[in-house]
Amino acid sequence: MGIDYMFGTYDYRVTALAIVVAILASYTALDLVGRVSASRTRDAYAWLAAGAVCMGTGIWSMHFIGMLAFDLPIEMGYDFEITALSWVMAVIASSIALLVASRSQMSRARLILGAVFMAASIAGMHYTGMAAMLMEPGIVYDPLWVVLSLLVALGVSGAALWIAFVLRDASRLRGFAGKATAAVVMGAAIVGMHYTGMVAAQFPIGSICGAASQLDSEWLATLVGACTILLLGTALTAAALDRRLENHTAQLVRSLSQANSNLRHASRHDPLTNLANRNLLHETIEDALARWREHDEPFAVIYVDLDGFKVINDQLGHDAGDVLLKRAAAAMTAVVRHSDTVARMGGDEFILVLEGVSSRAGIAQICEKLLDAVAHIQQGTTSLSASIGSATCPDDGTKLSDLVTAADVAMYMAKNKGKNCYQPYHGDMATRIAEEYAVQEDLRGAIRDGELVVHYQPKYSTRDRQLTGAEALVRWQHPEKGMIPPDKFIGIAERTGLINDLESWVLDSVCAQIRRWLDQGLTVPPISVNLSAIRIHNEDLPERTQACLEQHNVDAGYLMFEITESLAVREILRAVEALKRFSAMGVRVALDDFGTGHSSLSYLRQLPIQQLKIDRSFIKDLGSCDGDHVEIVRSIIGLAHALRLRVVAEGVETEEQMAFLDSLNCDEVQGFLLSRPVPVEDFGNIIARQSAREGRATIHLLPGA
Ligand code: C2E
Ligand code: CA
Ligand code: CA
Repeated sequence: MGIDYMFGTYDYRVTALAIVVAILASYTALDLVGRVSASRTRDAYAWLAAGAVCMGTGIWSMHFIGMLAFDLPIEMGYDFEITALSWVMAVIASSIALLVASRSQMSRARLILGAVFMAASIAGMHYTGMAAMLMEPGIVYDPLWVVLSLLVALGVSGAALWIAFVLRDASRLRGFAGKATAAVVMGAAIVGMHYTGMVAAQFPIGSICGAASQLDSEWLATLVGACTILLLGTALTAAALDRRLENHTAQLVRSLSQANSNLRHASRHDPLTNLANRNLLHETIEDALARWREHDEPFAVIYVDLDGFKVINDQLGHDAGDVLLKRAAAAMTAVVRHSDTVARMGGDEFILVLEGVSSRAGIAQICEKLLDAVAHIQQGTTSLSASIGSATCPDDGTKLSDLVTAADVAMYMAKNKGKNCYQPYHGDMATRIAEEYAVQEDLRGAIRDGELVVHYQPKYSTRDRQLTGAEALVRWQHPEKGMIPPDKFIGIAERTGLINDLESWVLDSVCAQIRRWLDQGLTVPPISVNLSAIRIHNEDLPERTQACLEQHNVDAGYLMFEITESLAVREILRAVEALKRFSAMGVRVALDDFGTGHSSLSYLRQLPIQQLKIDRSFIKDLGSCDGDHVEIVRSIIGLAHALRLRVVAEGVETEEQMAFLDSLNCDEVQGFLLSRPVPVEDFGNIIARQSAREGRATIHLLPGA
């Protein structure tokens, strides 16, 4: 026979309030606990305690609001101590649950442990709170529903903790939405537990509430109201703090990452051109090497050096030089693909890394484009030029330093070839560099020990083949290697500065010889001396030349300088001042190798020169049916004549060429056809014969020449 139970009723509005409080409390607790994982300092435990108080109070408030909504047909009240104890239980269990949940790592064991404590907190609170009613006779609990209420508390708490943990680390969902979701689930745990527990509780008819005289409903309502307001206040304050903190943190993170990337950028880029610097280049090459090792992807390292840039910088000033460097950087960047790297190594040196390229033809094509791009950069009437060397991985090296050195060596060879060109690396270059070094040391001794000799190559008028002059060409009479041609050592002398001593020696030797011939009573034609481009800028060159002429008592009219046209136009233009001083002294100047350089005919007008020497590469083709060169030579001659310059054709080897040049009105010729460069005695004989033909009386005075 069963017991009859009282039938309780619920006020639904108050029930709704209970649910809101549960969610609110959960939200606040999660929010506060979020700070625990964020700070991990002594503050962390304060936040944890605050979270636990909120959670506990929330559970507690929810319960009692729930109880206020529940009405039994008897007078109800709650025992003060037990009610207080229920609050303490809720807080302690909550704090353990939150402590477990706030760890940075969440294992399954930890999740279960947290859920158990959370459920214990809710359930313990609930059943203690029920006990506070001091019902007589006691509340009859339906064991099935009790177990069910515990399971609800456990399951939903676990879910809530799990959501809270996952959302805490999923930064996208952090903030309000994430916490709100977890709070709703946790609120559901509290509410679910409460109402399942209430279903489990049966109040036998005739029961009385032993605590009816203690905390009555009115009191409880006030207390719970106060707690709720406190909770709401804490929640709102926490949320506001949270938003500020979040904003502040986000801002900090932004400015920090900005500063970080600025720093990272600065440490890896060149400030002037914003290209990669050495550091980033090295990273890039190491990455490319790694890709080569893993996927066999080849790549090329390109070394670019602007020709004669130091001169520009000195002449135009550093600001203008910087502008040119920036333009060169932009021009080269525009040539290569986005995935390629252009780096500035400082000064006028650049290194490019071309990914996925290996064929010689492909690299050559890109390098030609680079040369072209640089040549489009105009500075006044002149344009820039560059020397480019390339090395490929794996052919020329599989180490960073090897590849860069190989590209550098190749670039150096491009400079040697006469600048404004491209040169791929090949294996024997390294040996050549070593050889050059040995040659340099050797040459130093040669100048000192008098191993150099001057040969003379006569020049003749085209029409009647009369001697018109000669070019002094240096040779190195090596004690072991024999006669070494100038092409083998002039470049080295230029690069090492030995050229100053070398050419001073040639000039002195020529002036002394002219004096000797004059003393022999010979008619001496003007002798041309080659002047290295590097030396044209020597301030004291006119003075030294003057001094040399005076020392040997030689009139300036016997001397002529040849400066090469293949040097960048700007260097020639820069030399205008020096050339004017030569003119003033009476020393004439010829522009050598005309047609090999930039061939800007327009600047010729500005140069104080008297002679123009057409490069032998144009003359060589004159005999063949290459109409192009005929036209070029014809127009060069026409232009030179318009500027009142005498034209000399170099490298004339055949009668056919002679005839052509004659028909084109070329003034003078120089070449193997009429005479190779000859030793000094032989040239002495040539001018002696010429003097004799001219029927000079002085011929009798010749001492057996
Ligand atoms: P360059 O000034 O163009 O001198 C003319 C070169 O052409 C000479 O070579 C000469 O032997 C060569 N040559 C003359 N006629 C013919 C010909 O019919 N056919 C061919 N294939 N070649 C011909 P070399 O003496 O070997 O001189 C080479 C270069 O060395 C010169 O070219 C010049 O740039 C440089 N050089 C010679 N002496 C000096 C010097 O004292 N100072 C400087 N800076 N350079 C010098
Ligand atoms: Ca010459
Ligand atoms: Ca020449």
